[in-house]
Amino acid sequence: MARIRKGDTVMVVSGKDKGKTGKVLRVWPEEARALVERVNLLKHFERRSQQNQAGGIVERESSLALAKLLPVCPKCRKPVRVASSEAADGSKQRLCRKCNEVLA
Ligand SMILES: [Zn+2]
Repeated sequence: MARIRKGDTVMVVSGKDKGKTGKVLRVWPEEARALVERVNLLKHFERRSQQNQAGGIVERESSLALAKLLPVCPKCRKPVRVASSEAADGSKQRLCRKCNEVLA
């Protein structure tokens, strides 16, 4: 059961970006890493190209460990731990441990 999925809003709970929230852009379950919008930005130097007319220094997200992230419950508006349960149709769903809200 994936604790964090693409499209989730998550908060960083440790490391240099602690306290930042963002949307999960990509998850690599095998590596237990995720890419989060505007989090863990690294500066890259880019050559001028067709896609990037200006070139120069751009900031780009780099992946970070899933262990550093917690999903933000839309109801509690806080990073929460996730419980898993079975939905009526037998599929797994994720619940907020605090308010039992289903996290999509
Ligand atoms: Zn909640």
